[in-house]
Amino acid sequence: MLESLTLGCPHCGEAFETAVDLSSGDQSYIEDCPVCCRPIVIAFGVDASGALDWVRAGREGD
Ligand SMILES: [Zn+2]
Repeated sequence: MLESLTLGCPHCGEAFETAVDLSSGDQSYIEDCPVCCRPIVIAFGVDASGALDWVRAGREGD
């Protein structure tokens, strides 16, 4: 199941939208910011019912 999220870029602070696939469980991946083009590490967790539990947008190396 894909879920759209609005997150804040950790580099420039702009909000951007991304879609996460909750069906594969906890994940982390890198997506370039559509505004400043710097890489954002997006990580999220899925709870026992398959719903989004937490999400984090950070810089590489944090
Ligand atoms: Zn940015």
